[in-house]
Amino acid sequence: MFSNTDISMMENALQLAALGRFSTSPNPRVGCVIAHGGQIVGQGFHVKAGEPHAEVHALRQAGEMAQGATAFVTLEPCSHYGRTPPCAEALLRSGVTRVVAAMRDPNPLVAGKGLALLESAGIKTECGLLENKARELNRGFLSRIERRRPFVRLKCAVSLDGKTALSDGSSFWITGEEARADVQVLRAESCAVLTGIGTVLADNPQLNVRDFPTLRQPARIVLDSRLRLPPNSHLVTDGQSPTYIATLERDEDKFRPYRKHAHILMPSETADGKIDLNSLLHLLADEGIGELMVEAGSELTSAFLAEDLADEIVLYRSPKILGNGKDLFSLPENRAALSAPPLWTPVSSEILGHDIKTVFRKNGNAF
Ligand SMILES: [Zn+2]
Repeated sequence: MFSNTDISMMENALQLAALGRFSTSPNPRVGCVIAHGGQIVGQGFHVKAGEPHAEVHALRQAGEMAQGATAFVTLEPCSHYGRTPPCAEALLRSGVTRVVAAMRDPNPLVAGKGLALLESAGIKTECGLLENKARELNRGFLSRIERRRPFVRLKCAVSLDGKTALSDGSSFWITGEEARADVQVLRAESCAVLTGIGTVLADNPQLNVRDFPTLRQPARIVLDSRLRLPPNSHLVTDGQSPTYIATLERDEDKFRPYRKHAHILMPSETADGKIDLNSLLHLLADEGIGELMVEAGSELTSAFLAEDLADEIVLYRSPKILGNGKDLFSLPENRAALSAPPLWTPVSSEILGHDIKTVFRKNGNAF
């Protein structure tokens, strides 16, 4: 059904789409190539919400050459009027005679309507070329739409002997410069970074991208069940990106010091008086957050694991030996894990300076 030329054109479109990985949130990353056989006559990618979609850039570049060409798009062309007019109509007008999409858009506003519109106008449409790669690229967007929760990545840094901090909680500089620079890239790709109130009270972090200029800073989320966040903390006052405070506090008078700069989220409460993470993730999805990075202490990170709400673990392991200190996770003993196949699969590993980065994905995770 698909030729080698088709495959290589879609690979080009996927590479273009990936260029938007730092900036398209909350929109999906999309690339488009217009080609006659192996000759590309137009290409483009979506850069930022509110700006033209990938197809528009590619069609503009192709001009008259779009006549009789094939358009390769990494996501089904949109069929609805959002902030920009529908791409399916732009493709129709352009004179392309075939449209190949890597996957259908699960957004209920599109959901097959884009391809159906093209098909009904006599354009040959095909779907599913390199779909797995396209899904991987938009795991956050897809998770938000399909599961109504973000794709959750846990970021952990640990010593050679499995400690995240000294027993007094000091953890600064466990990993080296290269690993810390890599975390900045992961932050820049994330829709939001989540942490606990303990981390904020200890470090007053900004949780932003500082190493390089970026079109969009990730949102910040603080889990603060009793609303202890100092109103003068960086997260509340720096205005770099939206800050969300998730709390169990319901006295709205207490929200006043934060209202100007931060959004209050009110997730439900668990039986033992904690923030229900599942309900919080639903609220975050409703706020347009698709890719979420958790940069928190052992307790909160462990809670995501215990609730089975994590999709990926990024582990930076330093060769330092800390001796007595805080364990990476605090979870009840799991005897069954000894004999069962591992739940987490390592998908990549690399040496960064003197540290080792390993990425684990949960088994059977379709994202
Ligand atoms: Zn579009």
